[in-house]
Amino acid sequence: MPSTSAAPVPALAARADRVALSAPVFISDLHLNASQPATRAAFSRFVREVAPQFRELVILGDLFEYWTGDDDDDPLGHEVAAELRALTTRGTTVFLMHGNRDLLLGRTFCEEAGATLLADPTVATLGSGTHSQTVLLAHGDGWCTRDVDYMRFRAQARHPAFQAQFLAQPLAARKAFIGQARAASEAGKAAKEMDIMDVTPAEVEAALRAAGVTVLIHGHTHRPDLHHFDLDGVPAQRWVLPDWDLDMAAPRGGYLAVRDGQWQVHPLAS
Ligand code: MN
Repeated sequence: MPSTSAAPVPALAARADRVALSAPVFISDLHLNASQPATRAAFSRFVREVAPQFRELVILGDLFEYWTGDDDDDPLGHEVAAELRALTTRGTTVFLMHGNRDLLLGRTFCEEAGATLLADPTVATLGSGTHSQTVLLAHGDGWCTRDVDYMRFRAQARHPAFQAQFLAQPLAARKAFIGQARAASEAGKAAKEMDIMDVTPAEVEAALRAAGVTVLIHGHTHRPDLHHFDLDGVPAQRWVLPDWDLDMAAPRGGYLAVRDGQWQVHPLAS
């Protein structure tokens, strides 16, 4: 294929849709960005002090507030990638799933971070022996089907042709586009945060049936909880991960640890 542009187009990474996890810790929805330094610092501390106690770190989407492409010259992405890479050299494997905000995280970032990209959803086997359990991992936005406008946008934004076309634009144009979109979203932020739709239970149940599992872990909704429900006569669980915001008056954030069959959500120590 003849190439007329000097800059290479950022490439999307291959995704795994099945994964085996032995002692994982799950986080999501950190929304890292330059204007939230306390959240950013909490992530660094977590990667240095907490994540190394686990065999796997699994990030279920929206690690970043936005992502213009792996060729962005903002140092934040490279700094985060270096911290994740350092974690992998200490023996913790890093898995990463796209959220709705950072769905353009690509091959270069994953290689830099030493991270494996997971498909949304992914079936995971947790633990081994008597503690072994199969669960479904997702970001969660795909089941917020009551937000019809969002689902339409989501279908477009996740389309490979749309992504390729977006990434083929010069970085400056991509930055301008995302800057405008963020300004618009910032303007209506209070309303928007209240508006984050919850998942549609019937969609969740259909996904669990399709995957043949009864346990789900997801983020996105900013409604951290453990839901118990009945799936075709079998007890099922839905774990919703907390989002992180340490820059607010009432800081929040946390992680889900799974070890030796024990599941526990830990709030971040402040
Ligand atoms: Mn999200």
